[in-house]
Amino acid sequence: MKKDKAIVVFSGGQDSTTCLFWAKEQFKDVETVTFDYGQRHKLEIECAKEIAEDLGVKHHILDMSLLHQLAPNALTRDDIDVAEGDETELPNTFVPGRNLLFLSFAGVLAKQVGAKHLVTGVSQTDFSGYPDCRDSFIKSLNVTLNLAIDEPFEIHTPLMWLDKKEVWELSDGLGVLDVIREKTLTCYNGIKADGCGACPACKLRHNGLEQYLLKKGEK
Ligand code: ZN
Repeated sequence: MKKDKAIVVFSGGQDSTTCLFWAKEQFKDVETVTFDYGQRHKLEIECAKEIAEDLGVKHHILDMSLLHQLAPNALTRDDIDVAEGDETELPNTFVPGRNLLFLSFAGVLAKQVGAKHLVTGVSQTDFSGYPDCRDSFIKSLNVTLNLAIDEPFEIHTPLMWLDKKEVWELSDGLGVLDVIREKTLTCYNGIKADGCGACPACKLRHNGLEQYLLKKGEK
């Protein structure tokens, strides 16, 4: 039996869109929330809008422009180039505490709309050093949110232990690989679907897809 109602933290990218389709299978009622924090490419939010509309799910867009003030970096400012972090360094797309903030606001929204479940596409496998993508952080925040808001929220992280190949596999299992491939935006240069092919996000996405298709025997 499907559980009642969930809020999906939704950016219009591959991971959160896969989570949205996953959630549609798990919950009777699904709503999405996108945080507008002055992304370099407004197209990301447009992608999210379009997908939510196609699916007929309610889409909340919350203004988080203060993030731009707090952590001006390559994702939010046009005058800084996206560079790949080396082994020890965080990539300069890092916004400290972003998931902490997003999930906390999602918790407040969940309380308002009567949802007990929160879904986020964070992954420890590809976490690139983001501490608030780790499983231990999510479990800790779950306890904190429940204490703060006095609700038995449950945070779901269907991608936590998956690499990009397995995220593609999950979307294929849900019957939406092509939808994810064509409708989502992951590219740091703001190019939808297969993207620019050169930025770190495109490389990760592309390599994962290659590996999955190879495994599936289509190539
Ligand atoms: Zn790209």
